Amino acid sequence: MKSGMTLDDEIRYLKGVGPARAQRFAALSVHTVRDLLEHYPFRVDDYSKLRPIQEVVPGEDVTVSGRVLGVSRIHSMRGPAVRVEISDGTGALYLIFYHMPYVASSFKRGSVVMASGKAAWRRGSVEIAHPVWQIVPDKALGIRKGPVLPVYHLTQGLTSSAVRQVVKTALEKYGPLIKGVLPEEIRNRYNLMPEPDALCQIHFPESVEAWQAARRTLAFREILLFQLALLLMRQGLKEDGGGPRFGAFTRAQEFLSRLPFSLTKAQERVIGEISRDLSGGRAMNRLLQGDVGSGKTVVAAYCLMAAAENGFQGAFLVPTEVLAQQHYRNLKRLLDSMATVEILTGSTKPKERCDILGRLERGEVNILLGTHALLEPGVRWKNLGLVVTDEQHRFGVRQRISIQEKAQLGQGNHGQGGGRSGGQSGGQGNRLVPHVLVMSATPIPRSLALTLYGDLDISIIDELPPGRKRVKTVALHPSERRHAYDEVRRRVGRGEQAYVVCPVIEEGESGRVSAVKTREELRKGYLRGLSVGLVHGGVSSREKESVMEDFVAGKIEVLVSTTVIEVGVDVPNATVMVIEDADSFGLATLHQLRGRVGRGAEESICFLVASPRSKRAYERLSVMCTTYDGLKLAELDLAERGPGQFFGTRQHGLPDINIADLGIDVELIARAREEAEALVGKLSEGGSEISGLLAEVKRKYGHVVLAGRSR
Ligand code: ADP
Ligand code: MG
Repeated sequence: MKSGMTLDDEIRYLKGVGPARAQRFAALSVHTVRDLLEHYPFRVDDYSKLRPIQEVVPGEDVTVSGRVLGVSRIHSMRGPAVRVEISDGTGALYLIFYHMPYVASSFKRGSVVMASGKAAWRRGSVEIAHPVWQIVPDKALGIRKGPVLPVYHLTQGLTSSAVRQVVKTALEKYGPLIKGVLPEEIRNRYNLMPEPDALCQIHFPESVEAWQAARRTLAFREILLFQLALLLMRQGLKEDGGGPRFGAFTRAQEFLSRLPFSLTKAQERVIGEISRDLSGGRAMNRLLQGDVGSGKTVVAAYCLMAAAENGFQGAFLVPTEVLAQQHYRNLKRLLDSMATVEILTGSTKPKERCDILGRLERGEVNILLGTHALLEPGVRWKNLGLVVTDEQHRFGVRQRISIQEKAQLGQGNHGQGGGRSGGQSGGQGNRLVPHVLVMSATPIPRSLALTLYGDLDISIIDELPPGRKRVKTVALHPSERRHAYDEVRRRVGRGEQAYVVCPVIEEGESGRVSAVKTREELRKGYLRGLSVGLVHGGVSSREKESVMEDFVAGKIEVLVSTTVIEVGVDVPNATVMVIEDADSFGLATLHQLRGRVGRGAEESICFLVASPRSKRAYERLSVMCTTYDGLKLAELDLAERGPGQFFGTRQHGLPDINIADLGIDVELIARAREEAEALVGKLSEGGSEISGLLAEVKRKYGHVVLAGRSR
């Protein structure tokens, strides 16, 4: 081993990797030796029980190896097929691939193949149809015990065996640099392998069991590192003054009594849970989950009111301008003479902004709501006591924590100025950490919640307000579109309103249905004579706002939009939605969208217009028509598309989950979280056996953990 070598060395300097191959690896985001070693196989094929071909019995599952004698194309009753003849000296058989003409080029005469599958007697010989197979080195011919071979995600021009070969070179050369960071005690507790062993076994497993054990070890490590990063980020917030202690809730109760409805049991329960936190003296960190329409906004308003009543300021952070305006209107109305509410967004005029910020700093604004604009440097609070974030998944982990940090900063400065830190908080010291309530309407599967929100307590509203009817959901082929728009006309005729949702703003290469064009077509066609508005992410927020106002006021009867209306918009008079190109959305998004209707007394309906291109796409749409459980849809979505896709956009702070499977490793994730907590606890006692772990956290998540800690 040469000195100066590190795992960050580029793989193009490895033996057997030239510039061309390096480029192929780059397409898999594999640039360095570390990337390569962490390019874990997603599956293994078991060739360990090889059978001589002459002993193969039709009807059994078998694994064989053999040299390719010839490749031919045949026409069978099941259609065209590629037929590969292989022989191991004891006998010969055929591998058959139906409707896969391209596989022919993968088999060269003379090369050696391992294959496994169900043997059958057909056309007078033994065949294995659609086997699992790999090309292997020549010496594999004739052996009795074949390897367990990992299968990698690949790209054009790379085979699993080529990847294995390069990994082997890398492991030989860089193996000594690989250090385990998991404390032995933890490894023992969960039966984990030493990490260097796990890395070998994941790429070159001795058995299927060894591969699984290695996968488990690496998954645990991955989750533990992320959880530690999350907890350490939070540690930057170590409270000296604790959280603000809210005493009275009288006016908050009064606010509830003014509502035109009574709370559901679930709303009451979560308000109870939250109130205990608010008056407990420690900073609250709570995730409030509830399906679309379950009434989270009222809960948020209650908490903000409680803050105001106790002399603290409240921040209400929302992801979009449209939603900010809507909440502002509601809060203004609900909190009327009870609290001073202001709104700050990207489109607030400079003069107005200046005025609001001045009053905020003097403590004359009780509740400030807004978009990302609330996170900007110029925003200084007098005594921020509570931060509510709506639709949390639109923000990153980093942002969630940064607003708390900022709040502390603001208070710290005031403290140094020698003044009281304002209101009734004066006696509690200056370094208070505000309470945080994050709300999410995308129900988050437990594994993902534990991963992303591992540092939060969770409250769930698992009940919809009474009288809610399910949104009837109907899938239509584009040729049946007329049916949907007839229904829109009928309902608008009755004084109701409609949404039409499209996946993209303007026609592009994607070939997706666009909002701009759809609106034009509808105005000239199916919906001639109706007032059809348009809103999407591309228009100015002023315009967005005025369109939304017109829609709320009923001046616009049909609103064509992109997913900007996905989050939180509440217009009870809208009772019908048409989603164009519905199969281009994830299930969780479709569910969110559908939740925009069905908010009033009228029975609502949602049309999913699509021509599904695959059986799977077709099934997804039928699931939407029969399933109304948001959590179930979210779990399906996660299993199908992975966590990155799950949230629609790749967001800050979403961990690089490489090997842990959020679909199946739920328990493992829970355990890793517990261990991370225990480790961070020990940290303050000066535990040193985790210095390796900490270094690894820093290497992997330093940009997240340290960014924003710029004080
Ligand atoms: P979400 O949880 O999706 O944010 P909202 O807070 O927007 O839901 O509430 C949806 C609608 O239900 C609003 O019109 C709200 O006024 C109404 N609502 C909330 N709670 C109740 C309740 N307990 N009874 C009746 N209607 C309610
Ligand atoms: Mg909402």
